[in-house]
Amino acid sequence: MNGLCRNLLNPPFSHIYIEENIIDHPNTVKIMSHFPKSRQVIIKHYKDIFNRSRQNYPLQKQSQNLILAEKRPPFVYKGSPLCQNFGNARFFYANAAINCVYDCEYCYLQGMYPSANIVVFVNLEDIFNDVGKLLKNDPVYLCISYDTDLLALEGFLGYCEKWMEFAEFYPNLTVELRTKSANWNSLEKLAPRENVILAWTLSCEHVWEKYEHGAPSPMQRINCIDKALAKGFQTRLCFDPVIYIKGWEEEYGRLVETIFSKLPAGKIKDVSTGSFRIPCAYLKNMRKNKPYSSIINYPFMAENNVYVYPPGLSDKLNLYMHDILKKHIPEEKIFVWK
Ligand code: SF4
Repeated sequence: MNGLCRNLLNPPFSHIYIEENIIDHPNTVKIMSHFPKSRQVIIKHYKDIFNRSRQNYPLQKQSQNLILAEKRPPFVYKGSPLCQNFGNARFFYANAAINCVYDCEYCYLQGMYPSANIVVFVNLEDIFNDVGKLLKNDPVYLCISYDTDLLALEGFLGYCEKWMEFAEFYPNLTVELRTKSANWNSLEKLAPRENVILAWTLSCEHVWEKYEHGAPSPMQRINCIDKALAKGFQTRLCFDPVIYIKGWEEEYGRLVETIFSKLPAGKIKDVSTGSFRIPCAYLKNMRKNKPYSSIINYPFMAENNVYVYPPGLSDKLNLYMHDILKKHIPEEKIFVWK
């Protein structure tokens, strides 16, 4: 999109759609206080807007609106086998928000949802209740920032803080907050909790520059991680997805070397890595939205309804990452997706 077209678009969150039944919810009121100039549109159900047919996803992404809604059951989902469970048998995820302010070309969200607008479910207490029930008998490992980037939204949302406060009451709950954000301003106000893991996705310079539109640079993320480690946050590094690009070995090698020249390896909880994979149905939509993107138009191979790199290539990527990571991190702390 050229600069002129961009200027003609509304600024982000120029319109905020609010379900009529949650208009007085405290989280709605708090979120709205951050956007006094936005136009409010009252709606019956968020899907009336979010699931409309013939939406222009790329255009919406350039000028995202916000939808405030009530989360209806299910409040918590079983973790996908495509995601790393870090050895946790009871692996779940919750999505108190959908969609992201960043625009990574390989992001599965653009294949999963018909709209690029951001949905925030304001009734976080209902998700908490459900997680509380799950915790009655056995420990739970819960990822809270898969379908969005909660830390990037923290300035107006405050959900990272609320999850941390919630986790404090449940020692048998482990929360993972996945992010590409470098939003230290929000993090520095929060107290680290033993059972809350801040998990940064790290990408090599080339992938960030070409394909992670709007996301903080690798160095900005590393600097934020450095501060998080110094403050005592449980911190995870995720080299996932690893993308096959020209010169990938040098790119990822440089990334890992840079990281461990800046960060104290001994303070890192663990690391994960995994080559790019995506459900077939999602990739079809993603290619429709981004026909120009070389990384998602790669000739992947379908295996059990999942597109992966051709045989041998995924293993090569994973093996290489494992090899360069084990120079810095004990092997038992390295999780490779298979
Ligand atoms: S940061 Fe994550 S959730 Fe956001 S666009 Fe990129 S891949 Fe998707």
